[in-house]
Amino acid sequence: MYPPKFGYVIPDSLDEALEFLEKNEDARPLAGGYSLIPMLKLRLIRPSYIVELRRLNDLHYIKSDDKTLYLGALATHNEIATDQKVKKSVPVVSAVSSVIADPQIRNMGTIGGELAQADPVTDHPASLLVTEAKVKIKSKGNERIVPFEGFQKDIYTTDLKTGELIVEVQVPILKGYTYSYKRMEDTAAVAVLLRKEGEVIKDVRIAASLIGPVGTRLREAEKVLMDSKGDSKSIEEASKKAMESVNPIPSPRASAEYKKKLVGVYTKRALLEAMGGKQ
Ligand SMILES: Cc1cc2nc3c(=O)[nH]c(=O)nc-3n(C[C@H](O)[C@H](O)[C@H](O)COP(=O)(O)OP(=O)(O)OC[C@H]3O[C@@H](n4cnc5c(N)ncnc54)[C@H](O)[C@@H]3O)c2cc1C
Repeated sequence: MYPPKFGYVIPDSLDEALEFLEKNEDARPLAGGYSLIPMLKLRLIRPSYIVELRRLNDLHYIKSDDKTLYLGALATHNEIATDQKVKKSVPVVSAVSSVIADPQIRNMGTIGGELAQADPVTDHPASLLVTEAKVKIKSKGNERIVPFEGFQKDIYTTDLKTGELIVEVQVPILKGYTYSYKRMEDTAAVAVLLRKEGEVIKDVRIAASLIGPVGTRLREAEKVLMDSKGDSKSIEEASKKAMESVNPIPSPRASAEYKKKLVGVYTKRALLEAMGGKQ
């Protein structure tokens, strides 16, 4: 199928891109194109212009300081998966990037495109919820930083306003935490971050993604484990709470009920792995 006609704009700078997007309300930014091009071909969207971001070096980086990892919006899944800074400082984000789709999509798909698309079948929400990441957004003459939790509002719906671009994802570097990520492709995933003092769990964060409509932090399950030793009874109880607190949407591969059960099973497996010390 052929896309509708559109103008193609290649800005030389981020400012130029933002200016163009502000003046042309129905223009769409293009990053990896893995979601945008199919939407064009299926004629789900008919933008007047496509604004290519891919050559904007000021959106293409991975940096860190002592406290934060900074992922430019154009960092690809493969770059995030293989970067040593990410592996060392926020391994759960690296692990999630490494299992996304296939090598082709990981080479072209970008973190900014994934978050802006808010497709319910994406992995990163779980890792960005447990790390309590933030999203930096820019429009012409304006900049704001918002928590990732709440940025994706519903299926294909985000907090982005007309003329705004995601420019960066900021991930806090958490020391002394172990992690785990368990998933079944296209169906359900659970991420866990956990910090113990001696034998006692002093912080635990659990989040689900891939189940739709958006990624969810599983706080009721977390509460069960806080200040406990993570014995088998509390892990069972937390898994049950996790299962009860999600409201998945059914997909061609799995019913909502099946996804709920997977969230319970993956919460238990992820907790056991994180308790076992994967750092
Ligand atoms: C077959 C297939 C399988 C996939 N499997 C998985 C999977 O297993 N796990 C997973 O997590 N993901 C999966 N994905 C999604 C993939 O991760 C891509 O990252 C995603 O398609 C969007 O990234 P992109 O860079 O290609 O964005 P694009 O397609 O270029 O853009 C997507 C949308 O975001 C907008 N946009 C792009 N960049 C920005 C920005 N910086 N600011 C604001 N808006 C922006 C575009 O205008 C468009 O509306 C899959 C995709 C496909 C096609």
